[in-house]
Amino acid sequence: MTAPSTQATALHHWIGGASDATPSERTLDVHDPATGDVVAVAPMASAADVDRAVASATAAAKGWRDTSLTKRATIMFAFRELLHANRNELAAIVTREHGKVTADALGEVARGIEVVEFACGMPHLIKGEYSENVSGGVDVWSIRQPLGVVAGITPFNFPAMVPLWMFPIAIAAGNTFVLKPSEKDPSAAVFLAELFAQAGLPDGVFNVVHGDAVAVNRLLEHPDVKAVSSVSSTPVARHVYETGTRNGKRVQALGGAKNHMVVLPDADMELAADAAIGAAFGSAGQRCMAISVLVAVGDAGDRLRPLLEERMAKLTTGPGHAPTSEMGPVVTRESRDKIHAYLAQGAADGAELVVDGRTLAVAGHDDGYWVGPTLFDNVSTDMSIYTDEIFGPVLDIVRVDTWDDAMQLVNDSEYANGVALFTNDGGAARRFQYEVEVGMVGLNVPIPVPMAYYSFGGWKASLFGDSHMHGMEGVRFFTRAKAITGRWPDPSHRGVDLGFPTN
Ligand code: NAD
Repeated sequence: MTAPSTQATALHHWIGGASDATPSERTLDVHDPATGDVVAVAPMASAADVDRAVASATAAAKGWRDTSLTKRATIMFAFRELLHANRNELAAIVTREHGKVTADALGEVARGIEVVEFACGMPHLIKGEYSENVSGGVDVWSIRQPLGVVAGITPFNFPAMVPLWMFPIAIAAGNTFVLKPSEKDPSAAVFLAELFAQAGLPDGVFNVVHGDAVAVNRLLEHPDVKAVSSVSSTPVARHVYETGTRNGKRVQALGGAKNHMVVLPDADMELAADAAIGAAFGSAGQRCMAISVLVAVGDAGDRLRPLLEERMAKLTTGPGHAPTSEMGPVVTRESRDKIHAYLAQGAADGAELVVDGRTLAVAGHDDGYWVGPTLFDNVSTDMSIYTDEIFGPVLDIVRVDTWDDAMQLVNDSEYANGVALFTNDGGAARRFQYEVEVGMVGLNVPIPVPMAYYSFGGWKASLFGDSHMHGMEGVRFFTRAKAITGRWPDPSHRGVDLGFPTN
């Protein structure tokens, strides 16, 4: 496998089915986190750029809504085939700008393709209901219709998968879309747009604007944008939800996370250790479902810790494209510095720093943004390494005495995206599933990400809004219901009646 090119690509917005050549007043460098090299330069959209993208989506909306379901599904199938055929290239783009290892990038692409496959079934998913003869000769039926122009705002950590959570469902349902991907790794979104165009998508149905808060805020205010689907850190999610809804839009805003893995003393400790390592350090801990807190009940902590240390000592961190790398860099220099600061603070606060990732060096990659796998023990809930989402390869062990203490700890968390329980006790697992106040629960599964045909979403500060992502909640989010009551004229119904039907 060859190393990625270091030549910087000039990126463009994708508007009206083509690269948008309008010069931008502001640009942003995009880095390869493994080398620090600038690999792309992205335009940062002004409000006027966003307006052009929304105008393009608005112009395409009627024609796309009028396009038959069969034709829309055919384009979705073609898009699915192109994604599959180009998955290696898409994964390489993800690795180059995000840093995650190739296998992980391919996994992200595979999970995104599953949503496209789900959206291929839109003719079935969007079906309404019909009740015959609700009153004499009167039938009632319901249909679901697209909203019009909808927008997506996405984070850096899944530059292919998270956009694919949104736009295939929205577009298959008959909406047109404006995507504002993360400015940290924006190239995947453009590649997705090119593939979708090749699949036969009409111009203007899918648009991409690069940018930052300026672009997001314009989308949140634009009167022609009917709904916003967003995934970000919690402060941004709160802002997106509050601003979007204040402007009359339907909004789902997924936020940050701090996911716990509870290990009971009866669990298979080898299995739990394997799972914790994968879930804490995969993608350098930059997954919204990453495990960042291991809640060890009773003597589980003493038994787990040596197993974790043993496994951590064998992990290989390096550039994502290298076949030997199991963990890549973190996304930016700022992110690395922030994580380093948390590690210093955790140690200063009295947590035991068992494995310190700040010492990691990767030969030949001195300018990469490296943080090695890090383990803290005896973490308490008032420390910032416990309360804050660090979003790096950092695992905290918190020790508690009982099952009830563990449940209390998890349910007291501000965040509620994912949680896992490791045990061989079916009764304990059943009670956990029933009582835990978290949106996605794993039983001996560390990262319980629902399949495309279920819905993805957390509770509390991990999601603002009413709908989770993809699955039937996604179909409902991107459509609105209409109920029709009708009868065919019948002479027996003649005569004025001011009454309300009593049946
Ligand atoms: P981020 O909040 O910095 O940025 C996300 C998006 O919001 C980007 O498109 C960015 O341009 C935009 N944005 C940033 N600041 C903004 C502002 N002030 N006003 C308006 N828009 C703004 O997040 P990130 O660092 O790219 O991604 C990591 C975060 O996303 C983590 O908190 C992670 O937990 C979260 N995340 C959550 C889920 C989930 O399903 N809940 C999934 C993936 C990522």
